[in-house]
Amino acid sequence: MELAKVHTEVRMAGAKLPPIALPTNCPGCGVALDPEALRKHLYVCECGHHFRLGADAWIILMADRATWKERWGDVRSHDLLNWKVPKPYQATIDQLADEGLNEAVRTGTCTLGGRPIWLAAFDFRFVGGTLSIVAGERLARGMEQILSAPDPVLRAYPEGLRVGLLALALRPETPPALADRAAGALLATLPREGHTYPRLALRRAAQLLERHADDRARVVLDDLHRARPDVRAVAPWRAALDARRLGRVALAGELPARGRLAPAFWLDGQRPVWLRTAAAPEAERLVAEARFQGALALPAIAPVVEHGVASAIPYVAVSGPGRPLLLDAAPPFELARAASGRRSPDQIRAYDWDGDPEPFIALFYPYGLRTEALVE
Ligand SMILES: [Zn+2]
Repeated sequence: MELAKVHTEVRMAGAKLPPIALPTNCPGCGVALDPEALRKHLYVCECGHHFRLGADAWIILMADRATWKERWGDVRSHDLLNWKVPKPYQATIDQLADEGLNEAVRTGTCTLGGRPIWLAAFDFRFVGGTLSIVAGERLARGMEQILSAPDPVLRAYPEGLRVGLLALALRPETPPALADRAAGALLATLPREGHTYPRLALRRAAQLLERHADDRARVVLDDLHRARPDVRAVAPWRAALDARRLGRVALAGELPARGRLAPAFWLDGQRPVWLRTAAAPEAERLVAEARFQGALALPAIAPVVEHGVASAIPYVAVSGPGRPLLLDAAPPFELARAASGRRSPDQIRAYDWDGDPEPFIALFYPYGLRTEALVE
């Protein structure tokens, strides 16, 4: 048989596979099938055609004989949405339960080649392997089981599994306690060369910065810098942690002069931004400007990523490629009028620009150029 020839080194340690539903002839080669002979060959035909296995067959295939212990089999689906079409969901679940299928995912522990493992198997026969609340719950509990192993066990997992677990733990939806546990045990175990460690270390630092855990982010960034001084993305992050800050915006240099822009770094979003500040009486104008920009997604207007008052200094941080062209001292009313094409090019040129507005003038006319000055 094809499989036996190619993988002679694989010892089939599990029990005999269960019978599965089979057609009379192989869809691959058309030969009439002998179910018993096919079962001995793990339901792979001579021609290479694989027949679909249920979770029960996969578990037998993977697990050492008589070592499988199913977990959370009592966590069952129920009809949460009162689903009626094309057939009541509860009737579907009941019928599948009668056939011995209680979920799309079965989870448990067993040994594989003598090593204890945690195993999850999907079953297409259960509503096409749909990932339901129960399936997700069983998978999540399984992940927690893996991560609750003592650190030396976690660190002994093969590299691929450690990377996979860590990548999963660094996703935004992962509960912080689980993320901390995985990162704490696994990040330090990754090989320092290559792209994986810098990528995951930066993602871990980003996760901590978003949670405002700056001291812990710094430890991750310092480790990364020590191990890989060639990773240039680290420098602005570390500099930002040392710099003077307004809220979550770190200044690259001095505070900008009134009405002018200064380069800065936004810690929460981990990207360069431009910062402007105002004198206290002008705070309201700055807030109005931030609101106006937030409400209008206009081309050529850099979006505000953060604004507020820090150390009695009102500030606003905008993000955008290159250096934004600054338009100062135009009240929000004027800006709104200009943005909707109600000011002539000369009126727009007369605003207090920091830079050349000429390339942007056309953007003010979504409904066609206005030539007459309009005063309101
Ligand atoms: Zn065949």
